[in-house]
Amino acid sequence: MILCQCWDDGNVDDIRVCETLRRHGATASFNLNPGLHRDERYEGWKFKGVKPVWKLARGELVHTYRGFLVANHTVTHPHPKQLDDATLAREIRDGKAQLEAIFGYPVLGFAYPFGDHDDRVCAAVRDAGHVYARTCNNTEQVLPCADPMRLASCCHFLAADFWQRFERVRAADGVFYFWGHSYEILDEQGWADFDRQIARLSATPGARWVDLPELFA
Ligand SMILES: [Zn+2]
Repeated sequence: MILCQCWDDGNVDDIRVCETLRRHGATASFNLNPGLHRDERYEGWKFKGVKPVWKLARGELVHTYRGFLVANHTVTHPHPKQLDDATLAREIRDGKAQLEAIFGYPVLGFAYPFGDHDDRVCAAVRDAGHVYARTCNNTEQVLPCADPMRLASCCHFLAADFWQRFERVRAADGVFYFWGHSYEILDEQGWADFDRQIARLSATPGARWVDLPELFA
């Protein structure tokens, strides 16, 4: 079976996610909004009203994500369906171009902010040169995917039925693809659970981690 994962929004806790993934030989994509990173880290909001969510500083992006892929999440994380055509195209194209300027490689993936998409938004993402775009929909059959601009994942990483879904995909020798935000890991218990989760996935006989663009190569 194939394992894939992606993480959204470029938060400081991504550093610890990356450390965990490196420890267990896992690959991942990180969906970033290049227009939201500043010269210094800053606190954007509080998750569940308690946990501060800090954005990474622009200058630490390359180091943080070394060895992983980044994907486009638009420049500033708007609701894409609410944008006029010109603004929509700018948010998508400039997001890709700015990430490519920062990281120095072609950015092929996209994730819809808020999962917000329709035919017009999908077309704009495809026309900008992305090979896949992730929605927030769930599926147990990631591939074959009728429309790569409407890629669904299997579940969120904290889904209550995460391992049941995993076992069904494993039985079918399919693609198990999950996603999340690093700020959803709330405390040391959460980090310990996450470490065990990735370790168990990596230790699955016959399973291999694959970068998302490879699914569409
Ligand atoms: Zn997001």
